Amino acid sequence: MSDALLRIEALQAGYGLLKAVRSVSFDCNQGQVLALIGANGAGKTTLMRTIAGAHPASAGRIVFDGHDITALRAPRRVGLGIAMVPEGRRLFGGMSVEDNLRVAGMRARKGPWNLESVLEAFPQLKPKLKAAAGTLSGGQQQATAIARALMTNPRVLLLDEISLGLSPIAVDQVYESLQGLIRAGTTLVLVEQDLTRALKVADRVVCMLEGGIPLQGARDDLSREHIMDAYFGLSRSPQAAH
Ligand code: ATP
Repeated sequence: MSDALLRIEALQAGYGLLKAVRSVSFDCNQGQVLALIGANGAGKTTLMRTIAGAHPASAGRIVFDGHDITALRAPRRVGLGIAMVPEGRRLFGGMSVEDNLRVAGMRARKGPWNLESVLEAFPQLKPKLKAAAGTLSGGQQQATAIARALMTNPRVLLLDEISLGLSPIAVDQVYESLQGLIRAGTTLVLVEQDLTRALKVADRVVCMLEGGIPLQGARDDLSREHIMDAYFGLSRSPQAAH
């Protein structure tokens, strides 16, 4: 447990009186793919934004590579190697794909990712480099958003609902590229509503329900039934943690 790259300790976050994330704890190790799953409103986006520094924690700690980063601002976290692809992508729509990528690369950590290597990972972007990001298809925009995050050379990549609003073919293509990143040893925390897809790529599963975590564990130790129960809050399983 002590070699976690990302450790979340009794983290809380919310909006005024609403506690969207209630004392949540989990670890993500180097090279792991952690799927964060749960129904709408479970608190997944709030948790991801809190890890990235886009939303304040109201209690608890975020420890990254042994350092407490809970109070650090988002750009400092990017500098340490935490990058997020937010829900809805948030590209600079009027700027070319290439400029979207280069802007992210300006603050980059040292590492394997640069314009050339991200285009190898996302070859569908090669013919679109000079196109305004806002004119791309949903799948191409999602690829651009992930490529942009990679340009910062993250040690952990947070992906929030990357399939949302995409056609099944576009989702397949984005996931194909993700498989390449996973094979290269990229550490991923992935929010995914599509349970089948999430379970295909994840090593570890964290189930959120009403701001808490009724179930978490190694993918291979959890049955789909257990996960479905936790997803819908049908029962508290004996495997429940935290
Ligand atoms: P979804 O899959 O719909 O994105 P989620 O699991 O990511 O859901 P959150 O978006 O984190 O969940 O929302 C958790 C709770 O916080 C919900 O009750 C939601 O209504 C509330 N919430 C989210 N954003 C805000 C906000 N900006 N202001 C007030 N409440 C919010």
